[in-house]
Amino acid sequence: MYILGHSAITASAANAADRDMDLRAAAALSLAPDLIDKPVHLLFPALVNGSGRSFAHSALGALGALAVLALLLARRPSLRRPLLLWACYLGHFLLDRMWEHDNPKIVLWPLLGPFPTQLPGVGPGDGAVLGYNLAGELIGLALILRLARLHRLYERPRLAAFLRTGRLS
Ligand SMILES: [Zn+2]
Repeated sequence: MYILGHSAITASAANAADRDMDLRAAAALSLAPDLIDKPVHLLFPALVNGSGRSFAHSALGALGALAVLALLLARRPSLRRPLLLWACYLGHFLLDRMWEHDNPKIVLWPLLGPFPTQLPGVGPGDGAVLGYNLAGELIGLALILRLARLHRLYERPRLAAFLRTGRLS
């Protein structure tokens, strides 16, 4: 799944769980595994066997994200709903369908060996994957437009307040 799918689906779920949630943080955490692993793949492909999913898509990466949230909570006790924010990170695994094909080798890295070199069913030429990703983007766009209409984010002051606080209420 791509940017709109991950961020909008996850932020909408977080908003349903907590109406005062900072949706900027929810969206950022929903994208964090790709924001970490894609540059690693581009800069150090040999380190991750050429895989676009590696450290941040693993259980160790998820525990690292939890540790970072715990440190942030220790420094900033006002941090709202850290476990819900962590769920936004874990939601990335769900939307990436990390149980399919060789993905469990990534999730359980390094227990099942090194990162797989090529993941079947995740290439851009795979029609089912393309359909899934396209559907995710369309659903994400629809969710963003729905939230924008419901909360009148087309009005400049309301949009500015949302961008400043991340909150819709
Ligand atoms: Zn991913």
